Amino acid sequence: MMTAVNCPHGRMEFDYSCAISRTSQTKLTAITDRLLMDAGSLHKDALVIDTHIDTATHLLWRSPDFSQRLSEGHVDIPRLRAGGVDAAMFAVWIDEGFSNEHALKLVLRGIDAIHRTIASYPDDLMFARTAADVRKAREQGKIAVLITIEGGRVICDDLGILRMLNDLGVCSITLAWGAATGWIDSHNHQRHGGLTAFGREVVREMQRLNMLVDISHVSEAAFWEVLNIAERPVFASHSSCRALLDHTRNMWDPMIEAMAKNDGVININFFGGFIGANPDSGNVEAPLRKPAIYRDPFDRIAYPVPEPGPPLSRLVDHFNHAIRVAGAEHVGIGSDFDGVTQLPQGMEDMSKLPALTSGLLDAGHSESVVRAVLGENDLRLFEKTLS
Ligand SMILES: [Zn+2]
Repeated sequence: MMTAVNCPHGRMEFDYSCAISRTSQTKLTAITDRLLMDAGSLHKDALVIDTHIDTATHLLWRSPDFSQRLSEGHVDIPRLRAGGVDAAMFAVWIDEGFSNEHALKLVLRGIDAIHRTIASYPDDLMFARTAADVRKAREQGKIAVLITIEGGRVICDDLGILRMLNDLGVCSITLAWGAATGWIDSHNHQRHGGLTAFGREVVREMQRLNMLVDISHVSEAAFWEVLNIAERPVFASHSSCRALLDHTRNMWDPMIEAMAKNDGVININFFGGFIGANPDSGNVEAPLRKPAIYRDPFDRIAYPVPEPGPPLSRLVDHFNHAIRVAGAEHVGIGSDFDGVTQLPQGMEDMSKLPALTSGLLDAGHSESVVRAVLGENDLRLFEKTLS
């Protein structure tokens, strides 16, 4: 008897007519079950972690009803659920138009906004700062919310403030954002040749506190210095591959290789401007249109551009490349949802995340590789760094 089953790579036929023992039958059932698991079921079953979303900016400036499907932005509880997300790092980002001291005040309010949102929807959200917390949230059917800060300038050159932010639940800091801080250069602004002596203290203190050091946004020189002094794994919360698109926010292959040696994870950014348009179109990077007046900082980072984003395959290309260079154990998801103005077609918001699983399976990756990239790699990283 020939039985046809659908698997992620097409339709396969099996001959069940031969006499087989009960044990073999059980094994065969397990194999066919696995083959039957389509992209949607695999995505639903897998642990899914996104290491960078800018949703805190939405929460801070507009206090939306997060339980509703919102008309603006890319993330809310219904879309986190539809996207099968188990854990996400909510980054508190403050526009560089504010002074460091004013930014620190706004960061405190951003952290408060995240904690209040978690408290408002206890059936859906759970505060997390460790791998164990992420597992506990998943067991209870809740989404783990980890709090991070994007832009190390808000510590106001003070390790005491760094420690207090950690006490408030911040488990990771992206060392720089747009401009160089007083102690580290950024990807497009260099004034220290990398990291100052105080910058080295910041990295060491973060690792001593069991915080995750995030090298997305830093300059190349700063990246290599951080890696040289890091005694534990570091990560790129939202960076893509520079070999595919030469943008200063992306990482060259030797940097990706070094991250893998450090046992870190590069989490691929979904922004159209970083992953690039279809190479055949001749358009390498969608132009950023900035409206003259922003309603608030959420408009500044998430105001959509009218041009369609690159095809989803272009995003999968970045995952494929990073997997080739770093190995499948060192790649993850750092979507940048709620912080970018253009996304790949078919990946317009968090609810579309299962399309990535389809794309990775179609690209020929095994189920175990897909599971690793979707979240297991970052959970392992959390286990080694956060407590
Ligand atoms: Zn960023």
